[in-house]
Amino acid sequence: MKNKILQVLTKYWGYDSFREFQEEAIMSIMESNDTLTILPTGGGKSVCFQVPAMILPGTAVVISPLISLMKDQVDFLKDIGIEAEYFNSALTAVQAREVAEKIRSGKVKLLYISPERLMTDWMLEILKTLQVPYFVIDEAHCISQWGHDFRAEYRQLSAIKRLFPGVKVHAFTATATEEVKKDILAQLKLESPHIYVGKVDRPNLTFRMTEREEGGIKQIIETLKLHEKEAGIIYCLKRADVDKISEALNAKGYINLPYHAGLPDVERKRNQEQFLTEKVNIIVATIAFGMGIDRSNIRFVIHAAMPKSVEHYQQETGRAGRDGLPSYCYMFYSGADYRTWEYIFQKSFSGQSAHRKLGEMYNFSTVPVCRHRFLSEYFGQSYPKPNCNSCDFCLDEVGTLPESDKFAKSIIEGVFGVDERFGAEHVSNVLVGNTTEGIEKWGHHTLPFYGRLKGETKRAVRSMIDQLIAQRFLRRSGEYLTLSVTDEGMKVLSGEVNPKLTRILEKEKKAEIKKKQKITLESDYANMELGLFESLKLLRRALADKKNMPAYIVCSDRTLKELAEKKPKNKEDLGNIFGIGEAKLRDYGEIFLNAVREYEEKEKTHY
Ligand code: ADP
Ligand code: ZN
Repeated sequence: MKNKILQVLTKYWGYDSFREFQEEAIMSIMESNDTLTILPTGGGKSVCFQVPAMILPGTAVVISPLISLMKDQVDFLKDIGIEAEYFNSALTAVQAREVAEKIRSGKVKLLYISPERLMTDWMLEILKTLQVPYFVIDEAHCISQWGHDFRAEYRQLSAIKRLFPGVKVHAFTATATEEVKKDILAQLKLESPHIYVGKVDRPNLTFRMTEREEGGIKQIIETLKLHEKEAGIIYCLKRADVDKISEALNAKGYINLPYHAGLPDVERKRNQEQFLTEKVNIIVATIAFGMGIDRSNIRFVIHAAMPKSVEHYQQETGRAGRDGLPSYCYMFYSGADYRTWEYIFQKSFSGQSAHRKLGEMYNFSTVPVCRHRFLSEYFGQSYPKPNCNSCDFCLDEVGTLPESDKFAKSIIEGVFGVDERFGAEHVSNVLVGNTTEGIEKWGHHTLPFYGRLKGETKRAVRSMIDQLIAQRFLRRSGEYLTLSVTDEGMKVLSGEVNPKLTRILEKEKKAEIKKKQKITLESDYANMELGLFESLKLLRRALADKKNMPAYIVCSDRTLKELAEKKPKNKEDLGNIFGIGEAKLRDYGEIFLNAVREYEEKEKTHY
């Protein structure tokens, strides 16, 4: 059986091996267990429930929350030669009738359907006349109120086991929290389910987090310069920021579209469509731009501000690099983001847990540790590598402050020494030894620690204070944002705990880092003919437009990259390229081979 499923994977998908847990999940489905599979975004969940449908008799039913996603998946399946259909409110009456006919004929191997449509008497009747080997609940976390995308319609899915006695149900999600997991199992009434939980780590992502400077526009532009011609999302905290940043970037020639819930429906949908069909490469958005972003070649995600939880950070950065190629995540955060979220939480009466999660996110932003390790550990998994080689900390870009503990101690002493009655501005003035009206008035220039951090800029000290707050050694509270020392902070004074701090980098060091980043990014394209890659991209666009589907459905960047590296000469070579299965070889084979040949001819005439 293991041979058989690998054969199917190669024949239709053109992949030569399984990813982590795919084989296990598929075997478990083949052996008629109920299953729950949790894999990160890009982990390859779809293949797990699509492969068995090609072997088992009947029509497998896939419940999916998003209409646009269904269409993409079905387009893709048809393109690799699999009988698939979708049924949802986007179909016209005529189309719906045609699809229903096809479903009744029993020829459809995979039927995608929205929960509302599934639960109509009419559809249930049709399905009862068919052989249905199993139901798949995609994005299963939507069933849970603890998840971030709760959908009331998903609750109806509890009825599947009752309506179809004995049928197997397979749940898939990327959300791994215990609460959500338990909820999925209970709601769907899975029976002795086999559960597979993949690693949350995404090794192809590089994470960087930097303090925001002056609104961040300059930092965003510098980042965009590193990613010319590539696709990316810029996430903002507020709608107004989306509009501002989008306009500023367009004015500078970085063509982009905005996306947020305040835009008229038509415009918002159009902008998303433009991004998904690769008509535009940059989208500036609030978190409203979320599920259904299936474009697999998103090469970078920029957070123009800090998200409100590590879960959100993980979700949003997760949209980068679904195709498995190296991709880059940048965040420009500020203590002000923390305060903005607190304010929003207060207004919306958010509970303790929202505040706690925000604190953890801020902590994550400011503590100098390996980002991959932090994320894995946050989600309850260990991280094996001592150096990930793909985060700002491990790449030695954050500039850990030598003698961090001494600085921390001085600052905490300072806060304590002014009786915990002043804010960060005043405390940093005291520590660097400035004279201000306040300092004279309170006689703080006579304190023993006045000027203890002389030589440091006030900005640097403010940054250290922010880091100490984020790491919960200091607390900021009250109307005047007064600083006080926490219990953890007292342990720093006694020498029990040694905090780690980062310093603001000098210009030269920053320039050096940028140069290194540029070299690494260029090396992602090192083995290929860049010209060929670009012309293949255009060709793919044209093919996709003709079929009215997004380019990445025709083939992924990884396929184009391999084409531009290996330059296949004949169908046999081409069949060995990643992502080229039998149907793609038949439909696009000649076209791709011609493109490679033409490119090589043209190159020859240059010499
Ligand atoms: P998920 O739904 O888990 O986010 P997808 O099913 O969309 O992930 O798959 C993500 C990407 O990984 C797709 O571009 C797919 O082509 C690729 N992929 C899936 N399985 C494999 C595999 N076994 N080998 C190579 N690529 C794969
Ligand atoms: Zn690291």
